[in-house]
Amino acid sequence: MNVLVIGSGGREHTLIWKIKQSPLCGDIYAAPGNAGTKDLAVNLPFGVNDFEQIASAVLEHNIELVVVGPEEPLVKGIRDYFTSREDLKDILLVGPEEKGARLEGSKDYSKDFMQRHGVPTAGAKTITKENIKEGKAFLQEVEAPYVLKADGLAAGKGVIITEDIKEAEDTLDEMLAGKFGDASSKVLIEEYLHGIELSVFVLTDGKDYLILPEAKDYKRIGDGDTGPNTGGMGAVSPVPFADEAFMKRVEEKVIKPTVAGLAKDNIDYVGFIFIGLMNKDGEPNVIEYNVRMGDPETQAVLPRIKSDLLQHLIAAAKKELKNETIEFSNETATTVVAVAGGYPGSYEKGTPISGFDQIKEGIVFHAGTKENDGQVVTNGGRVIAATTLAGSIQEALKGSYANLEKIDWDGMNYRKDIGQDLLPYIS
Ligand code: ATP
Repeated sequence: MNVLVIGSGGREHTLIWKIKQSPLCGDIYAAPGNAGTKDLAVNLPFGVNDFEQIASAVLEHNIELVVVGPEEPLVKGIRDYFTSREDLKDILLVGPEEKGARLEGSKDYSKDFMQRHGVPTAGAKTITKENIKEGKAFLQEVEAPYVLKADGLAAGKGVIITEDIKEAEDTLDEMLAGKFGDASSKVLIEEYLHGIELSVFVLTDGKDYLILPEAKDYKRIGDGDTGPNTGGMGAVSPVPFADEAFMKRVEEKVIKPTVAGLAKDNIDYVGFIFIGLMNKDGEPNVIEYNVRMGDPETQAVLPRIKSDLLQHLIAAAKKELKNETIEFSNETATTVVAVAGGYPGSYEKGTPISGFDQIKEGIVFHAGTKENDGQVVTNGGRVIAATTLAGSIQEALKGSYANLEKIDWDGMNYRKDIGQDLLPYIS
C-alpha cells in the first residue's frame, strides 16, 4: 500500500521509519518532510495545510493511506475535506474530523467533554469579557498556584501558572484583552494539580482502541527543567512510575470513557489521542488531550512497538481495530533533542550539520533539517532527536548522548539531564 505522511518534524520521520518496516508498505511519501525523510520516502514540496495539493498528489501517486502528523491540518478539517470529495472517498486517513480535533483546538470544549463523560480532570471555570468579575472572584476562591489557559491554540505558550494572585488577575485581563488574539477570547481558570506528569497514547477507530507505550517528556530548555518552554527536549518510554496498576486505572477511568464519549457525541474519530496526565497520588487526572502523536514522544514510543504499525493504522482507518493486538518491547527508549543556538528564542537556519556518517547504532531522527546541494543544514529550532533502545534507561541514555557527541553544528545545544529524574523510581 502506498502511504503519505503529512508533516516535517521528528515525529513524521519516526512514523515513516516505522511504517516502512512493514511488509505491507509500498511507496512512501512525506509532505513536506525533511532531510531525514528524504532518505526513506519521496518528499513532496507542499505545506501541511495545502489540502488541494495533498489530494492531487494522493490521486497521482495511488496513495491509499494518509497519516496526518501535526494538529493544524486536523483542526483545519483535513478529514472533512477528504470525506467531502467523491473522488477521495476510498482513501484511508488517520486523523480525526474537525469536530474531534476541537479536543485539542479548544480547552473550553475539551474541559466540557471531560466533565460530561466523567473523565477525571481539574475543576475549572471559563471566563470571557462578559463574566470577568466572576473570574476574579474564582481566583480568590481557589488556592495558589493559579492556572490560566487560553482557550485556543497558542503555540504551547497559552498556559500561565503563577503563585501571585496579582499576576494571575493581570494575566486574566491581558489574555481577555487579546494577548493571544482570538485564542484567548475565552480563558480557563483551573485548579492546580499536584503530582507527576506523563503522556499516554491511544490509537482509536472511534469504537475500539490500542494503547501505545506511555512516555515522559521534558518541556523546558534548561537542565533541571528550568528556563522557557519548548516543543520538547527529550522523552523516555516506558515511565517507571506508571506501573501496571496505574495503567489499568488510566484505561478504566480515562481511556474507556474518552472513547465512549467520542462515540456518544457522534464524532468520527479515527486517529491518535495523546492524553497528558497528572499522576496525583496514584490517580490519573487529565491535563489535556492532543489529537495527534507527541513530538518528541513519538521518537521514544514507536521504536518500542514490535507489532506492525502500518497494519494497525490501516485497521484503524478501516474501523476494524477490534481484532488488532499491539506488542511492545520491554526495553527502554530514550530520545534527546538537539536544538539550534538561541532556541526557543530567535535562531539561525541554514547552518551545516556534520557527523551523520559516524552513527553506527541507535537512530538519529531529523526534525528541523533540509538538504542544500547534498549538505544537510539546520532548518528549524529543534533540529534532530537521538533515540536509543536498550536494556536499561542508563544504557539507552548513554547511547543517545554518545550519538549526539558525534554530530555537530555551530550553536548546537541539548539538555544533559534527560531521564535523570526517573532513576529514583527504578528498583
Ligand atoms: P502543550 O505545550 O503540552 O501543548 P498546552 O499549551 O496545550 O501545552 P497544557 O498541556 O494544558 O497546555 O498545559 C501546559 C503545561 O502546564 C502542562 O504540561 C502542565 O505541566 C502544566 N499544567 C497545565 N494544567 C495544569 C494543572 N491544572 N495543574 C498543574 N499543572 C498544569
